[in-house]
Amino acid sequence: MRIVTLENSGRMYTSQVYLVLGGTSRLEDVNTLVDVGQDPAVLESIARAPTGVGKWAVEQVVLTHCHSDHCALLPQIREAFHPKVFAYSPNIEGVDGLLRDGETIRMGDQAFEVIHTPGHSSDSICLYNQARGVLFAGDTPLLITSPAGTYEPDFLAALEKLCSRDVREIYFGHGAPLMERCNQRLRESQRMATGSRSASEWNRGSRSSRQWRRNRRCNRSTKEQSPWQDSGSRLTPAVRP
Ligand SMILES: [Zn+2]
Repeated sequence: MRIVTLENSGRMYTSQVYLVLGGTSRLEDVNTLVDVGQDPAVLESIARAPTGVGKWAVEQVVLTHCHSDHCALLPQIREAFHPKVFAYSPNIEGVDGLLRDGETIRMGDQAFEVIHTPGHSSDSICLYNQARGVLFAGDTPLLITSPAGTYEPDFLAALEKLCSRDVREIYFGHGAPLMERCNQRLRESQRMATGSRSASEWNRGSRSSRQWRRNRRCNRSTKEQSPWQDSGSRLTPAVRP
């Protein structure tokens, strides 16, 4: 497996865009973008990447969550490469298939486990490859250094699941990857998160937890209700990235 961090122009706020390729560009490898960002310069970066001969440079897209800095370039990517597009939320325009917690999806020449990590948004997922210990995190907060935050039980359960995996490389939605002490950092985060507020407190359904859920919702059940809010001429996500 090769993981290419695609260059962007640096002129707009965008997520990282990762191109996951097989080790030797075989036909059966699934060239996959993890998130597409919102910078059109990524299209030129894809053209420069070693994506193999006789196949689409991008055959598949996996979106880690619905925020526009991770998704907004999707129409151009679909038009250029005709990939299959997967995400947890059905409310992103252009998604072909939904991913569920515990499913496996092939990216490059490797299998990745889908881990639902609601927290940053209700549709956030991480993608974990056991063979190399690779974790794509999206915007899931995995490096928690203070006990001051509040976290819902589903997020704490997801963090516990991540701590049970052998993680050796973490690729974040923003910033440089973490290539050392990943398991240790995850366990530190778990200690901070669980120390900040117990799950039983959340289960009692405090006012702030209900508010928290409202703020983080990417509606899954109502097709008409878009996760984007129209603010003037620009579409902006309902929840800030
Ligand atoms: Zn986000």
